[in-house]
Amino acid sequence: MSRRPLIAGNWKMNGLRADAKALASEIANLKKSDTADNCDLLVCPPFTVMETVGTAIEGSGVFLGAQTCHTAESGAHTGDISPVMLKDAGCTHVILGHSERRTDHGESDADVQAQSIAAHTNDLIAVICVGETESERESGNALQVVREQIIGSVPAGASAQNTVIAYEPVWAIGTGKVATPDDVQTMHADIRNTLKDKLGEDAANGMRILYGGSMKPANAKELLALADVDGGLIGGASLKSEDFWAIAQSCPSN
Ligand code: PEP
Repeated sequence: MSRRPLIAGNWKMNGLRADAKALASEIANLKKSDTADNCDLLVCPPFTVMETVGTAIEGSGVFLGAQTCHTAESGAHTGDISPVMLKDAGCTHVILGHSERRTDHGESDADVQAQSIAAHTNDLIAVICVGETESERESGNALQVVREQIIGSVPAGASAQNTVIAYEPVWAIGTGKVATPDDVQTMHADIRNTLKDKLGEDAANGMRILYGGSMKPANAKELLALADVDGGLIGGASLKSEDFWAIAQSCPSN
């Protein structure tokens, strides 16, 4: 089954309005001038620059996403943002369960599943992140840990249309260490099998599984060519338009 690659930029807690506007405009212009059109592009800026970025990418075909959301639609949740607000701000996607949210904010698989259901209810595509720590990999438990995260974080109503999985080994995020292509393919195939058991063949075969963790222009082509890798979730390299674009250009053409 052919799956259109998705290259997603996670800007994390970076960018004041002027930087965000410049970066988003550069990405939008590159996308508009693209003739290959071999992938979808998504940028996930901080909430404070959502409107600035949304305006800069308008009409370019670049999608807008957030980095988390609450499960409730509104109410007494100081500091949180609801999926309804994200939709209203022009978002189509939301990253959920990133390892930094799981660590910094104690988000569990059950939390991520509840956030994903809230995202789906509000017509947002959930980009659900999973990945093992270094000690879990070293002790030979990586596949089992990620299986459990998939089972616990992905809701029963997930489909290829409303959900994207991002496999991000925690030890590879922002460290310059990258999983080997063999390990990445083994993990992605295992995730797809777990999704088959949970959601059925069609959903699992159609669902995009991204790799994230120190993906750069220099290693993107090899990773993106793997059979079960359907794009990338990019942190550091998404903050430079030329690097983000070079990664997007590394997607295999259909
Ligand atoms: C991320 O935070 O999702 C990520 C993959 O970061 P980096 O590309 O910097 O490793």
